Amino acid sequence: MILRVILGDQLSTNIAALARLDVSRDVVLMAEVMGECTYVPHHPQKIALVISAMRHFAAALQVRGVRLRYIKLDDPLNTQTLDGELLRAVQELRPEAVVTTAPGEWRVLQAMQGWEALTGVAVEIRDDQRFLASQVFFQDWAAGKSSLRMEYFYRKMRQATGILMDGAEPAGGNWNYDSENRKKLPKNVKPPRPKRFPPDAMTQEVLALVGDKFAHHYGSLAAFDYPVTSHEALAGFEDFIEHRLSGFGDWQDAMAAGEPTMFHSLVSAPLNLGLLDPLALCQETETAFRAGRVPLNAAEGFIRQILGWREFVRGIYWLRMPHYASLNSLKATAPLPDFYWTGATKMRCMSEAINQTMRYAYAHHIQRLMITGNFALLAGLHPDGVDEWYLAVYADAYEWVELPNTRGMALHADGGIVGSKPYAASGAYINKMSNYCGSCHYDVNDATGAHGCPFNALYWDFIGRHAERFAQNPRMAMPVRSLANMAPNKVSG
Ligand SMILES: Cc1cc2nc3c(=O)[nH]c(=O)nc-3n(C[C@H](O)[C@H](O)[C@H](O)COP(=O)(O)OP(=O)(O)OC[C@H]3O[C@@H](n4cnc5c(N)ncnc54)[C@H](O)[C@@H]3O)c2cc1C
Ligand code: SF4
Repeated sequence: MILRVILGDQLSTNIAALARLDVSRDVVLMAEVMGECTYVPHHPQKIALVISAMRHFAAALQVRGVRLRYIKLDDPLNTQTLDGELLRAVQELRPEAVVTTAPGEWRVLQAMQGWEALTGVAVEIRDDQRFLASQVFFQDWAAGKSSLRMEYFYRKMRQATGILMDGAEPAGGNWNYDSENRKKLPKNVKPPRPKRFPPDAMTQEVLALVGDKFAHHYGSLAAFDYPVTSHEALAGFEDFIEHRLSGFGDWQDAMAAGEPTMFHSLVSAPLNLGLLDPLALCQETETAFRAGRVPLNAAEGFIRQILGWREFVRGIYWLRMPHYASLNSLKATAPLPDFYWTGATKMRCMSEAINQTMRYAYAHHIQRLMITGNFALLAGLHPDGVDEWYLAVYADAYEWVELPNTRGMALHADGGIVGSKPYAASGAYINKMSNYCGSCHYDVNDATGAHGCPFNALYWDFIGRHAERFAQNPRMAMPVRSLANMAPNKVSG
């Protein structure tokens, strides 16, 4: 008998640990453990999502006749750690071997590598094949390059998969329509409401459990309606293709008050759990474009996120860990302000992003990067505190994807591994891409007065603090020169 271990974000029927499963003999181990719910104070909706999706996945395995050892969070015998539950299962079931799939976090891989010593049984850790670029593919691509740029990796991925290709050429003649993804949302355009998934009885039971045990964590459970099965997740994606993908191209970077989801897909949480297949999402998007249902800038823009960014950040994570998690190239030291956890701030843009995160465990990319991320960058917040926050508050957050985005893309703490320049912006950018400033306590056109927009003063302070370093970067030299030529009263009070 082989004991097959499936983790909470490995809920795919084609997961490597289940390959060559002998239904008549093998046992699948799944365990809800407190250790994984609390190593950062995860948003209760994230905990509920993972546990509910695990229970639905386990129920589907049982229907297929799979023998299951499923340990619930409130099982009195639960040791509340993965190691403890593995050891208990091995001692009781005495398997010939343990088979599992490589995890998404370095921390868990370290633990898994100790499982053989812990249990005295052979442990096979199989590669996670649910990504489009294997770690070896990424390592080969990265080898010998002085800088790793997503754009070139993305082109390689387009060629390797044939997605959005016309023979050897990119569809439409260009690899990238990024410049067509930057429009502000016009006043008369209302983003369609995404399809929602009201909790079924199984999810309601989980919500009660999570409400009971994690009420003190940041965020509310009230609005929970995430898809918890692959069937539901697919229905959510099809709703996106039908109603929002065509607008995703133009308004990918736009933000609007009271519009938490804009034209975004909301696939990250189910995708990272394994309920959706990234290749299938790209193929279905291409089909919609080829059938004339969505414009090329929308299809390409969306495919770039999945085939490009998602695979790229995973490649960086495994290439550069564990060192990556300690990088702090801008020597940022400030603690995370309390308002990240409470939402109590007069900055309208921050308040929108943080309060919607508390309500939905979701904010779209531009809010994460150009609002909360940008503030953290400009204010010099220490990357450890910022990482913990991002890992805790989003339903889709797992370290392999969170860390390169936060430490790399948002904070530039990796010194330019993920992005060639910091995504630093003053209030002018936020005003250009959103309608937040119109109803803000602060004045976006002022930097130094009592009501001056904090993003303005912080921006110039940031440029000044790092002027020497940025003067060497061709993409940052202009603001450094502007600051040098600016009247002092424009930048400090
Ligand atoms: C500071 C910061 C932290 C982030 N943390 C996470 C995280 O913990 N988990 C996570 O999945 N994404 C993270 N992202 C990336 C991105 O913001 C989210 O994937 C996206 O907002 C999820 O919403 P969506 O599904 O509606 O995305 P859409 O805008 O509809 O994009 C489609 C999909 O593309 C992928 N994608 C887009 N951008 C990225 C990116 N930069 N890196 C990786 N995948 C990407 C995601 O799978 C996403 O679902 C982070 C970005 C930033 C700037
Ligand atoms: S004025 Fe400044 S703080 Fe207020 S919403 Fe605009 S950018 Fe944000």
